[in-house]
Amino acid sequence: MIIVMRLDSTEADIELVVDRLDERGYGHHLSRGEERTIIGAIGAPDDEKEVVAGQFSVLPGVERVVPILKSYKLISREYNPRPSSVMVGNARVGGGHLAVIAGPCSVESAEQVLQTARAVRDAGAAALRGGAYKPRSSPYSFQGLGSEGLEYLVAAREQTGLPIVTEVMNVRQLEGVAEAADCIQIGARNMQNYDLLTEAGGCGKPVMLKRGFSSTVEEWLKASEYIAAAGTLDIILCERGIRTFETATRFTLDLGGMAAARRETFLPIVADPSHAVGISSLVPQMALAAVAAGADGLLIEVHPRPDQALSDGPQSLTPAAFAELMGQVRTVAEAVGRQA
Ligand code: PEP
Ligand code: MN
Repeated sequence: MIIVMRLDSTEADIELVVDRLDERGYGHHLSRGEERTIIGAIGAPDDEKEVVAGQFSVLPGVERVVPILKSYKLISREYNPRPSSVMVGNARVGGGHLAVIAGPCSVESAEQVLQTARAVRDAGAAALRGGAYKPRSSPYSFQGLGSEGLEYLVAAREQTGLPIVTEVMNVRQLEGVAEAADCIQIGARNMQNYDLLTEAGGCGKPVMLKRGFSSTVEEWLKASEYIAAAGTLDIILCERGIRTFETATRFTLDLGGMAAARRETFLPIVADPSHAVGISSLVPQMALAAVAAGADGLLIEVHPRPDQALSDGPQSLTPAAFAELMGQVRTVAEAVGRQA
């Protein structure tokens, strides 16, 4: 249920609505826009929504109450029709800014991260990505450097000024990752780890939620609602490809799904063509397609020596290929009214 306050509503009106929500045991989420305040009520049972909406609609200062029957609301356009932007350190994602987040799949050494960070920054990336904790399909593959990897990322931020996006795989890692990162990444394999979503939503850092590769758009949006319900709307969605019958590419970049999600939510959405296609020579085309289709940003894997990468080398761009792509990204971004 969303309670839209009138333009001339007072603080006392807002407080009364919040008190009444509290009395009923409902949670609330207050959004103070430039023009008006909107209050999202959390927890009204579905069969009572219509009645409760009627009761709240007569409180002073209330313009209207919209009962929301969808299973996501805080992240929905019904709640906030205008696209939002999220600050990752000093980088803005969304709101007309195209943010390119680039870096290696895994943090492998201090030197590898720093070298990549410098290269992507010089080419125009807005943030550095890199996994210290890696969710690998095989337990015998390189699992990441863990907390040592986080230290290398922090050092690279100090040297380059680039904010850091890095993955958290479980609740135990959250404190350390949240301390180091400017944005926490929740990977495709963890999209429905509801404990992790809830904890991440309360950790004080923005969260990037990747779409599970077997998840529908609706499931993805509901997963993001868990983060929102835990207390933050600083959420970035990431379309990273879904599993289809096609084997010519690693996954299938679902730009139709991305567009459908964009219609439902005001949250910024970025695309990850690297994991989607899995083949470095195909990454630039899909990166450009994603920008043309309205992505608010890109997640691109870059490695100084893809032939020596400990993970995802086949899909990683060299710094030179990344710099070339950035030039093309700017052209397409401009053509579709975005600033790169
Ligand atoms: C990654 O970003 O390196 C990663 C593991 O991505 P995903 O969760 O999309 O597979
Ligand atoms: Mn990867």
